[in-house]
Amino acid sequence: MHRFFISQESIDCSKISIEGVVARQIARVLRLAKGDLITVMDGSGWEFLVVLDVIDQRKILGTVVEKSRSSGEPKFPITLYQGILKGNKFDNVLQKGTELGVINFVPVLCERSIPRGTLDSFDRKLDRYRTIAREASELSCRGIVPSISQTITLEDAFKHATGDCILLWEQEKVTGIMEHLKDQSNCYQGISLFVGPEGGFTTDEIQTAISHGLSVVSLGRRILRAETASLAALVLVLSYLGEFSWT
Ligand code: SAH
Repeated sequence: MHRFFISQESIDCSKISIEGVVARQIARVLRLAKGDLITVMDGSGWEFLVVLDVIDQRKILGTVVEKSRSSGEPKFPITLYQGILKGNKFDNVLQKGTELGVINFVPVLCERSIPRGTLDSFDRKLDRYRTIAREASELSCRGIVPSISQTITLEDAFKHATGDCILLWEQEKVTGIMEHLKDQSNCYQGISLFVGPEGGFTTDEIQTAISHGLSVVSLGRRILRAETASLAALVLVLSYLGEFSWT
């Protein structure tokens, strides 16, 4: 079943009207026909099973036959604070992180982040990032497209983070992420996960994190690339929260 995010204004009681890119995709690319079924999501966690009534290159009309909550939304909000990465590495984190269930991505400027200037080019890619997040959400049955914030400083990120605030540090030798989760009851209020850039966090940044009350944890004996570390930690956290089962 093809899934598309559409604006809330496109849904009027039991009737939907789709224009623009999605209409072209339905008509021209997928060549769907009158009577075919699609699922549309309004971005708020609701989804609608729709039978197509009129198909035109510019406008699609349909009738809602069923409305339900999207099953793909995780029960607990997870925010990924990711140290800015070079090149297109963030694309991967964004795509896979969306599939796994991140609700908010926050790019973070760290001491060892790439040189000035690249920050602008990172923020200029926001539109592309939003497309990646939307497409990954459509394919993975999410009901909400995760938000991607503007880049903020690490210090600001520490101030804004809520729930169980976890920072991954490859030099932490005492507390593993799983031990931390088992000790921690507030993970059910949501998780803020901090992962460094390629060069890692500095010891000053680790001290600041601790002074803001973050928990510094390890992912074990091997040092992972930043993008691998993010995804590994997300899998562990979501698994701990029961997100890898239907019950
Ligand atoms: N340049 C550093 C490694 C940085 S890895 C070095 O060579 O020592 C990039 C980020 O991934 C780190 O900032 C950390 O957040 C995370 N990371 C990688 N491996 C990790 C591990 N074993 N435990 C915890 N965090 C890890």
